[in-house]
Amino acid sequence: KFIVLEGGEGVGKSTNLQFVTNWLQERSISFVQTREPGGTPLAEELRELLLRRREEVVDPVAELLMVFAARAQHLARVIVPALEQGQWVICDRFTDATYAYQGGGRQLDRALIEQLEQRVQGSLRPDKVLLLDLDPQTGLERAASTGAADRFESERLAFFQRVRAAYKERADAAPERYAVIDASRPLEQVQQQLHSELEKLLP
Ligand code: C5P
Repeated sequence: KFIVLEGGEGVGKSTNLQFVTNWLQERSISFVQTREPGGTPLAEELRELLLRRREEVVDPVAELLMVFAARAQHLARVIVPALEQGQWVICDRFTDATYAYQGGGRQLDRALIEQLEQRVQGSLRPDKVLLLDLDPQTGLERAASTGAADRFESERLAFFQRVRAAYKERADAAPERYAVIDASRPLEQVQQQLHSELEKLLP
């Protein structure tokens, strides 16, 4: 199974990722934990380039192509081989983040993202996307207080509102592949829902 964890800033992705990997370990399921952008040495280098603060404004199409360059490498070296060996793959962000950040946030043409997705992934899609959903105002406050905010910290709330809307649009279009999790609730409730979503994936 190919499981992806998604969400905007400050939704609690790291904590809940740990919950998912604990669940897998408790069931002795063999899995690979990875992340995007990144997951291989080359893709991690691309991630560093993407997240580095710089004076130069990054062209959105350049950013999009770097994200997919990293993804092509990640798929070829890590994700596809693991799935072929029957391992589960748990990935911190994947192509939905591209629709959300480059599509929603940076307002790039969705058709272009779809073309690249098709070219890079073929028919490969996650079995389940666990989408942690939170009002960006709250998320940004949380991210700022934990120091986890990145280069987008200072950007307008509107960017993250578009990110959130794009994630939700994706989930609404294919509800069977998404679990939308209200991350404003207490952690125990969030993890209860995560738990039941994970249990549904068992044969
Ligand atoms: O998952 P994590 O929060 O560590 O990702 C680091 C940052 O990379 C995100 O906060 C997001 O701003 C950025 N990102 C992006 N486009 C993607 C994936 C991540 O801009 N497709």
